[in-house]
Amino acid sequence: MKAEIIAVGTELLLGQILNTNAQYLSQELAGMGIDVYFQTVVGDNMERLRHAIEHAAQRADILLLTGGIGPTQDDLTKDALGAVLGRSLHIDQQAMDQVEKFFAGRGVVMTENNRRQALVIDGSTPLPNETGLAVGIAIAQNDRFYIVLPGPPKEMKPMFEAQAKPWLQLHALTNELPIYSKMLKFAGIGESLLEDKLLDLIQAQNDPTIAPYAKEGEVSVRISTKAKSESEAMRKLDALEEQIQKRLSQNMYASTDVPIEKVIVDMMASRGLTLSAAESCTGGLLMESITAIPGSSSMFLGGIVCYSNQMKEKLLHVPHALLEGEGAPGAVSHEVAEVLAEHVRMIADSDFGLSVTGVAGPAHSERKPVGLVYIGLAERGKQTEVFELRLSGNRDAIRIRTVKTLLYRLWQ
Ligand code: ATP
Ligand code: MG
Repeated sequence: MKAEIIAVGTELLLGQILNTNAQYLSQELAGMGIDVYFQTVVGDNMERLRHAIEHAAQRADILLLTGGIGPTQDDLTKDALGAVLGRSLHIDQQAMDQVEKFFAGRGVVMTENNRRQALVIDGSTPLPNETGLAVGIAIAQNDRFYIVLPGPPKEMKPMFEAQAKPWLQLHALTNELPIYSKMLKFAGIGESLLEDKLLDLIQAQNDPTIAPYAKEGEVSVRISTKAKSESEAMRKLDALEEQIQKRLSQNMYASTDVPIEKVIVDMMASRGLTLSAAESCTGGLLMESITAIPGSSSMFLGGIVCYSNQMKEKLLHVPHALLEGEGAPGAVSHEVAEVLAEHVRMIADSDFGLSVTGVAGPAHSERKPVGLVYIGLAERGKQTEVFELRLSGNRDAIRIRTVKTLLYRLWQ
């Protein structure tokens, strides 16, 4: 099955809003085993909209349209699809009741154009809107399946999830085997090196399929297969996972879609271990990512954002001679990362102490290049480890990748 997403709206073409609906739907369809070969964006114009629908129907089995189903004159999606299918529109009574109730409840007079939100195409299945007013549409004609969804993501997503997805499963995917997938998560390795290590598997892939994708500082690999039963699918997926795990045991930290901070929080909490942190150039990002995980209170004791040299000296007792003066290594140095990690660990009396000091940019400091970062890892009763990172990218990327690398080192 091939699908095409048609996002409707002149704001999209003008660059005023980002087409996140297409991103969401593409991900969802991929998860359902449906290929998306084209995404189209078209403005609020009847003729071009009709043309886009006709064109898509020639190359896809499933068409998903989002946007342009509100009350105003420029909301043309349903009219255009009706025209292409040679069908008229009528008011869906249930949707109309919902619109009327909404206005009555607010004590405002409903203008006539709001009736448009209750329009559906003759012979279609109305898709109720749980979070808004405009009703959606699902309809099959000539072996093509058409779905019309609202533009606002907070209406579009629940309607897709609760209404459109089951409808597609029932009508369009009846002869297809269900798809099962697993998400494998990696850290401390870039996308290209990971792909290189799995190249023969990726090239030979047929069933299960392997799809790597990268986010800042972490890489995910989705492995998917179609099967009659979950147990049959899991047998195939587990066998492939084992092969991948063998090759990348140093980097694969989970076989479900979780961030590395969650793995660390769970692991440390279950072993009764504690953590503290001293952050300079990441300004608290590390602590934020850890404390965002429920359950972190049992393992994270606290930390210090020591952005200035003065704070490093006063709060974490970094010797002045390391920070400033003739021959001092400076704040961004191996030595300072080491002291920060050890001192914060001692102050907090935690099992582990982490530290970050570096140049996130855009300007260099201490004549050190942007992207030079030192991370420290102190452990009770062990030799402190310090790693020098040379990261590329902008300020945000450097900060995120620093945090992910530090978490990866801790996980190891
Ligand atoms: P409304 O009832 O609000 O008019 P609608 O279904 O007619 O809804 P549009 O008028 O096309 O949808 O868009 C309404 C809003 O929804 C846009 O201003 C935008 O904020 C959001 N939106 C529309 N299309 C997209 C899209 N493809 N990706 C992300 N957001 C979108
Ligand atoms: Mg609109």
